[in-house]
Amino acid sequence: MKRILLILICTFCLLPVNAYEVAFPQKKALSLVSNGIFFVGKVDKHESLWINEQKIQTKKNGSFAESFKLNPGDNTFYLTNKKNNIVDKYTITRLAPSEASANLVEFPMQECKTSDNDVILRSTPENFGMNRMSYLPLNTDLRINGMKNDFVRVYLNKNLSGWVASDSVIPEQRENKILGEYKSEGINSDSISETYKFKFTKNLPYSTKFEDNLLYTDVYNVTNCPNETFHSVIELKPPYCYSVKMKDGELSIKLPRVDMSSPKIIIDAGHGGKEPGAVGCMSDLEKDLNLKAAKALKKELKSRDYKVLMTRNSDKYISLKDRVNFTKDKKGIIFISLHMNSIPEYADPNTHKGSETYYYNEFSKPLAKSVQLALTKSLGTRDNGVKQASFAVIRPTEYVGILVETAFLINPEDVEIYKSKDYFKKVSKGVTNGIETYLNSINQ
Ligand SMILES: [Zn+2]
Repeated sequence: MKRILLILICTFCLLPVNAYEVAFPQKKALSLVSNGIFFVGKVDKHESLWINEQKIQTKKNGSFAESFKLNPGDNTFYLTNKKNNIVDKYTITRLAPSEASANLVEFPMQECKTSDNDVILRSTPENFGMNRMSYLPLNTDLRINGMKNDFVRVYLNKNLSGWVASDSVIPEQRENKILGEYKSEGINSDSISETYKFKFTKNLPYSTKFEDNLLYTDVYNVTNCPNETFHSVIELKPPYCYSVKMKDGELSIKLPRVDMSSPKIIIDAGHGGKEPGAVGCMSDLEKDLNLKAAKALKKELKSRDYKVLMTRNSDKYISLKDRVNFTKDKKGIIFISLHMNSIPEYADPNTHKGSETYYYNEFSKPLAKSVQLALTKSLGTRDNGVKQASFAVIRPTEYVGILVETAFLINPEDVEIYKSKDYFKKVSKGVTNGIETYLNSINQ
């Protein structure tokens, strides 16, 4: 027995060990639609790596990032360090893009109603982008007259259509009157909020839009209004947060009264638990780095006397919906989601670097701008500016929300920055300075 064990140990010791580690692709066989792929990872000191006979450049810390074009079908990559004749084979299959999207099919007006709550009314028949008009409750009466992709076209008035997912409506037979009517309106006011109420005969499709401090709300298919459309314009005050709800034919718009001299700040460390996020050259996981940054930010904000809560303070999975609900329940007014950036597999990791900040609602843009400015100043990363994007955690209108991508995980230059010892401190100081600049500007 001892002898067998000894032989086993010796055999194991003699097994050659790879002098490099590949962090991406994580699998040796991969299928994708894109026209390129990158390999990232690290190479041991005094070792080298060849991919398809091309010697790969490594940075001082051993990290590497190299991108390759993909031909349609199978693409083979051989990785070796040439010392022990071990060759790793990767097969990356480039798939043909799926068939072009379906054409518009038009049909005579049909009656139907929503079969679920929070059915998204969109301005285009796509389930992405900046096209959300409103969220419709169960049993909202709709009229549809077309279909494209997996969406049905909703008639709003003679100049305007919307789109809802075709599996979120069911046909309905309504008698005579298929349109609604405007009935009355009023305002409820108390110490914590002010609520505008508009009463209709039933749930109807509506849309909201915030622009230049004004909230525009339109309700459609209203027979006793011009062009069958009811308009309302409400002037909002900083921080311009609001919530809109249609229930039992009543549209209510609630404006919270917020003390912006000490707003509650929610810090959201992106990903967690079973969801690691992106992976860096040195096999760092985004979820761990986000959590470290979030903890540092909490400490910095607390030291400046802000009220702070975190959506997670350990390595655990939390759904996007739970992060949003937590923020709403705790009456958070400022929401900061911390992430690190990745790139699609066809892009060149060496050209993607720097920090960027995302917002969804127009009223969150000033916060995004001041955090972006202060963060890049503090970190010394490239300033990629602020961008508008439809991320679930920053979509709600109940709080001022931004999502910060502090740096790229796989860009060798950014790796040097986020591996430096005071990185998390610099992130926390930058973001906090940005929040303070924003608060000073709206508290003037
Ligand atoms: Zn992320």
